[in-house]
Amino acid sequence: MAPAWAELAGQEAAVGQLSRAATMDAPTHAWLFTGPPGSGRSNAARAFAQALQCEVADPAQRGCGHCHACLTVHAGTHADVKVVATENVTYKIDEIRELISLAQDRPSSGRWRIFIIEDADRMTERATNVLLKAIEEPPARTIWMLCAPSPADVLVTIRSRCRPVGLRIPSVQSVADLLADRDGLDPALALFAARASQSHVGMARRLARDEGARQRREAVVHLPLRIQATSDAVALAKELVEVTQEEAKSSAEVRNAEERASLLRALGLGEDEKVPPKLRHHVKRLEDSQTARNKRSVHDTLDRAMIDLTGLFRDVLALQLGTGAELVNEHLRDELGSYAHGVTAERTVARIDAVATARRRLAGNVPPLLALEAMTMSFLPDRILDRRPGELV
Ligand SMILES: [Zn+2]
Repeated sequence: MAPAWAELAGQEAAVGQLSRAATMDAPTHAWLFTGPPGSGRSNAARAFAQALQCEVADPAQRGCGHCHACLTVHAGTHADVKVVATENVTYKIDEIRELISLAQDRPSSGRWRIFIIEDADRMTERATNVLLKAIEEPPARTIWMLCAPSPADVLVTIRSRCRPVGLRIPSVQSVADLLADRDGLDPALALFAARASQSHVGMARRLARDEGARQRREAVVHLPLRIQATSDAVALAKELVEVTQEEAKSSAEVRNAEERASLLRALGLGEDEKVPPKLRHHVKRLEDSQTARNKRSVHDTLDRAMIDLTGLFRDVLALQLGTGAELVNEHLRDELGSYAHGVTAERTVARIDAVATARRRLAGNVPPLLALEAMTMSFLPDRILDRRPGELV
């Protein structure tokens, strides 16, 4: 298997499909990558872009990981691979128009001009219709790669013109193996991280590598276990916002530094070497994309905390129903066991719903504290919730 695909843990079917397509002289010009968050949709699109641009002589080896094209696609600096992510809730129609005009150009150095649109589900119907025209009448050397959680998240008109690539949630074990074999992390820690992240590769890697990230996750999942009174619910909502802000900041710093180091390597520069003027636009481009991502990262980290809380209550429910399932928070089995004992399964289901509602409100730009307070109120002990609302104060 060529190195480009190594990052895609547990996605054998997709890797087979894409590596075959990469050997063709004329691959399909529009692709739709779908899969749940963390399954690696945009990583799969990038790996495919790398294989398509790879300069190695033998097509079967495309995605070699060593040639100039491979290195620059991987570092995000290849002139003919544009990754588009929006910092807004939806793509603006002008953003899409600009892409389409870029798509008319011939590739500058690569074989193809490739556009990867992350979160294609965030396109408005108008923006989608503009893109649709470009996909229907494709310039000869342009390839579009769209990413979305599921096929149903993009309009059927677009979907029907794209070749689908379905990614699945990798098994906990395959994520743990990736971290242990490829990153050289301790197998037990890798397994814990794979489980706790619910098979989200990026998050698992971060948890396994960074003790601070592990501590912040623990703070989030312990939160419902600590709530005893209405005043706690308010204070803990605030704490949750603070913990996630801190995590977003730290996570962005680590990732930005790694990307910068990998870019400098691709440009053939040492870590502390001064960037010569003619290469500065590469660094500028990376910094711009990092700035856009930083703006979104608090929102994304908060969303991640919601997923952690859902996992926690699913664990509680599994214990209450005695399903015997392996827990996401296996390391908290005893603590969760006694918590599960003190509440009804109905209430656990109501709490899972409350987390889902908070998540929806956050996505809809409700102020975080407001959305979270309503959620933490539902974590109050049954003895308080069972009283009539008037007695709460
Ligand atoms: Zn290559």
